[in-house]
Amino acid sequence: MHELSLVEEILRISADASNGRPVTRVVLKVGQLSCVMPEALQFCFDSVKAGTVLQNATLELHSIPGRARCQDCGADYALEELYQPCACGSCRRTLVQGQELVIQTVECE
Ligand SMILES: [Zn+2]
Repeated sequence: MHELSLVEEILRISADASNGRPVTRVVLKVGQLSCVMPEALQFCFDSVKAGTVLQNATLELHSIPGRARCQDCGADYALEELYQPCACGSCRRTLVQGQELVIQTVECE
């Protein structure tokens, strides 16, 4: 399961950042085009955190909408699906945001 290995990575990084102190909150930025299921991420987090410095921590997910810039007309537009063309019909675009999966904050006691 994709999400499980992601959560293990999040746990490892957060534990490193906390220096052994109990972690209270982890804030994660999740791009809407990152192919990650927020529910699955939350579920894995809750099942893996027991017995770690994160056992009382909550996972907060901040969703980042997809955006792209058209290489033909220069428009900046919202991208709901990865292969959505620009309003001008062009499919040549640069992804601006929406595929990230980053730890934004790790809060400790
Ligand atoms: Zn365009």
